[in-house]
Amino acid sequence: MKKNYFIAFEGIDGSGKSTQARLLSEKLKKEGFKIYSTFEPTDSPIGSVIKNIFRHRIEADHRTIAGLYVADRLDHLLNKTNGILKKMEEGYTVITDRYYFSSYAYQGTHMSLDWVIQANSLSAELLRPDLNIFIDVSPEVSMQRLSEGRDMIQLYESLENLHNVRAKYFEAFDKQKDDEKIFIVDGNRSFEAIFDDVWHKVYPMLKPHRASPNPSREGL
Ligand code: ADP
Repeated sequence: MKKNYFIAFEGIDGSGKSTQARLLSEKLKKEGFKIYSTFEPTDSPIGSVIKNIFRHRIEADHRTIAGLYVADRLDHLLNKTNGILKKMEEGYTVITDRYYFSSYAYQGTHMSLDWVIQANSLSAELLRPDLNIFIDVSPEVSMQRLSEGRDMIQLYESLENLHNVRAKYFEAFDKQKDDEKIFIVDGNRSFEAIFDDVWHKVYPMLKPHRASPNPSREGL
């Protein structure tokens, strides 16, 4: 029987993915689950190249960026030290802030979506998320959050682009609906309301596989 799970958070920039991924990891850990939290682009040398492109330190064509994401994702999966597959083998439930749907949505706004899906097919064969959680916010809300919380407006973060990316996410979900489990959450709400939906989706899936009793209840 399956013991551990792979969950990917998706959404446009500023949707609250990393916040919700963190809340979920923390609560699952408290419940006694073995959790490994991770993100893309990674901190690997390949991920660093991607980040330097966003910081305008390196110039690259969108097709090159798409290729770099494919490579970064494969390393994210296959890295022998801290790769997702290794962590899964070690019994961790892995929660990632972004996975291949991010490529479908972001690179898909600049080039053929089918090409991007095909280019990521090896990652999909290696490991499909048990659940893709899409935090859906309006681009206006996300821009507002980003302008309050961050000083670095990245290459992708213009309002028009966020509209395009959100639309591309939905196009990709429709294309992949037979192969992927997708849970869409209304992200235009409070942290707590969003997390409540996330928790009620994830916990029943994981609960039968809890490794140890709830530590917070021990000794009661
Ligand atoms: P993402 O990882 O999707 O880019 P973050 O989780 O980093 O988004 O959130 C972006 C900003 O919005 C942060 O400053 C965060 O504190 C804030 N934020 C996240 N979720 C909410 C929410 N539900 N309501 C208000 N602000 C939020």
